[in-house]
Amino acid sequence: MTKKELGKAFEPAEAEKRLYEYWLKNNYFHAQDKSDTPAFSIVIPPPNVTGMLHMGHALNNTLQDIIIRFKRMQGYNTLWMPGTDHAGIATQNVVEQQLLKEGTSRHELGREKFIARVWEWREKYGSVIINQLKRLGCSCDWERERFTMDEGLSHAVREVFVRLYNEGMIYQGDYIVNWCPRCHTAISDLEVEFKSDASFLWNIRYPFADGSGDIVVATTRPETMLGDTAVAVNPLDFRYRDKVGKFVILPLMNKKIPVITDDYVTMDFGSGAVKITPGSDPNDFAMAQRHNLEIITVIDGKGIINKNGGAYKGQDRYEARKNVIADLEKGGYLVGTEPYSHNVGQCYRCKTDIEPMVSKQWFVKIRPLAKQAIAAVIKGKTKIIPKTWEATYFDWMNNIRDWCISRQLWWGHRIPVWYCSDCKKVIVAMVNPDKCTDCGGTSLKQDEDVLDTWFSSALWPFTTLGWPEKTKALKTFYPTSLLITGFDILFFWVARMMMMGIYVMKDVPFKHVYLHALVRDEKGEKMSKSKGNIIDPLLMIDQYGTDAFRFTLAAYTAQGRDVRLSPERIEGYKFFVNKIWNASKLTFSNLEDFDESVSLDSDESLPDKWIKARINKAIEEITLSLDEYRFNDAAAAVYRFIWHELCDWYLELSKPVFYGKVTPEKRKAAQKTLYEVFQKMLGVLHPFMPFVTEELWQFLKGNDKNSIMLSNFPIVNEEWKNDAVEKEMGIIIEIITAIRNIRGEMRIAPSQKLNVLISAADEQSKKMIETDKSYILNLANLESLKVEINAIEPKGVATALAGSIKIFVLLAGIVDISGEKARLEKELSKISKDLEKSSKKLANRDFRDKAAPEIIQKEEEKLKDLQKKFATMEGALKKLKSISG
Ligand SMILES: [Zn+2]
Ligand SMILES: [Zn+2]
Repeated sequence: MTKKELGKAFEPAEAEKRLYEYWLKNNYFHAQDKSDTPAFSIVIPPPNVTGMLHMGHALNNTLQDIIIRFKRMQGYNTLWMPGTDHAGIATQNVVEQQLLKEGTSRHELGREKFIARVWEWREKYGSVIINQLKRLGCSCDWERERFTMDEGLSHAVREVFVRLYNEGMIYQGDYIVNWCPRCHTAISDLEVEFKSDASFLWNIRYPFADGSGDIVVATTRPETMLGDTAVAVNPLDFRYRDKVGKFVILPLMNKKIPVITDDYVTMDFGSGAVKITPGSDPNDFAMAQRHNLEIITVIDGKGIINKNGGAYKGQDRYEARKNVIADLEKGGYLVGTEPYSHNVGQCYRCKTDIEPMVSKQWFVKIRPLAKQAIAAVIKGKTKIIPKTWEATYFDWMNNIRDWCISRQLWWGHRIPVWYCSDCKKVIVAMVNPDKCTDCGGTSLKQDEDVLDTWFSSALWPFTTLGWPEKTKALKTFYPTSLLITGFDILFFWVARMMMMGIYVMKDVPFKHVYLHALVRDEKGEKMSKSKGNIIDPLLMIDQYGTDAFRFTLAAYTAQGRDVRLSPERIEGYKFFVNKIWNASKLTFSNLEDFDESVSLDSDESLPDKWIKARINKAIEEITLSLDEYRFNDAAAAVYRFIWHELCDWYLELSKPVFYGKVTPEKRKAAQKTLYEVFQKMLGVLHPFMPFVTEELWQFLKGNDKNSIMLSNFPIVNEEWKNDAVEKEMGIIIEIITAIRNIRGEMRIAPSQKLNVLISAADEQSKKMIETDKSYILNLANLESLKVEINAIEPKGVATALAGSIKIFVLLAGIVDISGEKARLEKELSKISKDLEKSSKKLANRDFRDKAAPEIIQKEEEKLKDLQKKFATMEGALKKLKSISG
């Protein structure tokens, strides 16, 4: 090995930049279109071009990179396909905001110029999120980066639309859609968020046209009555048996509407009679279709009452509500008002109340597609992890409604449909037509709408690989191996990719789907601006380095649970990076004169054999955990091995060997062990901490080797397995730990040498301890160690047990027994007072009711600490009492 020395500490800011450029320069992220080795592929959930790296991205992409690096090291031809999404509404809004500041608008600019502006914006800011992903260490194949609106993908989108249309899977229809009056577009069922609203239920009297009394209907939206076209009751409701078929007069509108029956009406809601407004309610719309009722729209796209609303024309929907109620009251039609809490749908982007509206929209017939997507999961062609999500997936897929794919936006894939104004022919084509295919007329008008953003992202797994061309990449990497995404887009995205993948490619888009949870703060609260608990990933990277940040994310990612994060937790793993760095410095100094070619297995010590057996176990556990996407288990196994086995024990136990206190042969054997184990340690750590491991690996290997990324992921070495050694070393560790604990309890200085007698159960055990005596002497800092079979307990000792082995630590002349007893008694009485105070406080109702949750939690933690302290000290006192008899 070279003699140059490792820097004092790892400098993430400098090293990350240098190493990432090194990887890029050498093309290490690039996958081969064709290769003899098996393929492994992931498509990135494309972040919005407007995106700024937040915790959700950070978690999602860290997990992907861990798996990608792991698989790449395992020898797969590994592709991580990157790209961004054009994000219709989000991007259009950003540019519209810009225009607003300039005192203009998209309408003033016109469609073409506006779209040009959006492209300009995209050129300038569209790669911000990509550069942020690079800081996270993401090893995407950047050469292949795609954009949902790039030329190839736009072509593919059109191809799929035309194909669906030609196969009768796309239709245009009058339909009631969720309309956002603010965003001015239809939004899908999924994009509607429901919020509980404490409002009222208004009971309104509709008189019969023949003067035979009246019928009372209840509604939460009185203003919609202007568009009522019927009153409905349940066919089994005897109260209305002789009213069905009669007409009532719609108050305020003075119009006759029929009383009809429909199973949909529940008898126990209100009076059992409901008003039917097909133009403003999806259920009423469905009923109108069943009964051939008139469909009247009274509220326009901006939420204003239109010409069909009589005297209320021009009023905002909420203003109209007030006026309608007042007029009903004046006319004697309002029977009663009662407080009523119900769910109101809101636009998920702008939180404006949704206005269900009937308009012409394009739809995908979804049931045939859903059926196949359900079957694929049942058959296990695609596996959803954690499995608990499968039930949700099935439930949603079984109740799916046709997918409304048209959006009233300008930024997006324009719908490839033209209308002939001469003969009304509808033309759907791959190439923009210049004349009508039927009448030859040239006055063609293209549909104004664009496609839902999720339409193009539903095609992402194959369009990014070059479809509709039959590319090598498509053949090699489709179906992809794995998708990692948040559970919140299971329906928006995952389900739709399943349906479109099966429809277009005749095969599922991915074999595994791993759904991760949300990142929350350490108390489990959702991160939000208003709560001020948002953690900025880039800030964390600046402060603690990417490696510590990534490791924290992995360590807290347990399946099916939220990831609870705090800067302190990330800082904790920065200490881990420091620990690794310092252990590496020690390692490198021990290896300075190491000669790789020597083979001295026969001179291996117990710790040498032990650490080899232990890294075998670690490799096994880490590999299995990563294979099963148990990121936290994998991270825990890495951590445990490095900190608690390699650093705490092996390096300590081997110090005398490296300092030349034994034979040169033993030293060489230890060097070889350390060299091999250290290299494997870097290997298993690399997917989690790519930067520090690369830095150390290159240092270890000297200048002639390229990258840890090209090394093999460590595998179990059968020859290193050694249960007997693990057991033996386990006992030695137990003995040393027991003596150290006594030191702690008795407040004996670490520098104070001790005399210990060990009582072994039999000759074999005695022999073993005597053989390994030097380790105990060194690490427990002993003056002397005697081992006897069935020794008699001497006077004035502290005792501990390690299995069947008894340990006696002689305390005479070392511990002032009576003084220590007095001190412990004094401490204990103080702690018991504090304990009492704290438990009383927590038992107090007043405190529980009034104090903030974090204060209560703090107090609970304090109580737990006190209890622990009390138990430890009490134990120590008991021991002392037994010594003094
Ligand atoms: Zn909106
Ligand atoms: Zn025509």
